[in-house]
Amino acid sequence: MARPVLLLGGTAQAIAFARRAVDLPDVHLIFSLAGRTRSPVAPPGEVRVGGFGGVEALVQFIGEHRIAAVIDATHPFAVRISANAAVACAETACPRLVLCRPAWTPIDGDRWRRVASADAAATALPSGARALLTTGHRDLPAFAGRDDVHFLVRLIEPPVDPLPFADATLVLARGPFALDGERTLMAEHEIDTLVTKNSGGDGSRAKLDAARERGIDVIMIERPPPPPGKRVGDIGAALAWLAAQH
Ligand code: NAP
Repeated sequence: MARPVLLLGGTAQAIAFARRAVDLPDVHLIFSLAGRTRSPVAPPGEVRVGGFGGVEALVQFIGEHRIAAVIDATHPFAVRISANAAVACAETACPRLVLCRPAWTPIDGDRWRRVASADAAATALPSGARALLTTGHRDLPAFAGRDDVHFLVRLIEPPVDPLPFADATLVLARGPFALDGERTLMAEHEIDTLVTKNSGGDGSRAKLDAARERGIDVIMIERPPPPPGKRVGDIGAALAWLAAQH
């Protein structure tokens, strides 16, 4: 009988993992999305959408669905769900793996300023900057009040609320992004600063290459501490871990 496996998603890596795991004969994949994106990329297999309702509700979900393993493939900045999953899995003795692509690291020619939060990134922006902001809608309020900066805000979907900026241009786009497009975007908007989170992965790293070529500053919001427990960076390693959980 197939083992129910709960995959906590919200990343391109989670989708890529699901596309491989859904065909495993001994696995019944339940893909869980928070439901923040109004039109997410459709994951394969069974999908549930919305928060569980906290740790105890997640404990209950794991018990009721007889979950045999949890793969936490949420975004490295999604701290709460990862912490909840760690506690709930410990309480239920359910095996748990964190699948998270490695963070980006600077290479020769990069002009990174590393900061610990969106608030710190907002403070680090020089007055008069023309900044490409790719942090996602959740972090936009941190930059409100910087009326001395022009923001080019890139989001996947139109924001629910108006952008909280005096001087901003909105561009809607969903990755993966290619280098040519990133070059053109930065040139057309005369971007002199990139503000981004250290999400890692190939799908959105072209902006870093374009910034290096352009010789501009990158304000890099570094990751919060990772959740406890075993962690792998690639899908093959996660599939091998899953196969070993019998
Ligand atoms: P978060 O602060 O860690 O989580 C907030 C709450 O959302 C959780 O307590 C949980 O609600 C619910 N939740 C989050 N992920 C869930 C999932 N996969 N399935 C079911 N419920 C989930 O997360 P966030 O930063 O708001 O991010 C929300 C989602 O967007 C995550 O799944 C993440 O992978 C994705 N994402 C986040 C970022 C980012 O920069 N933070 C970027 C790209 C994608 P309950 O407590 O009610 O269970």
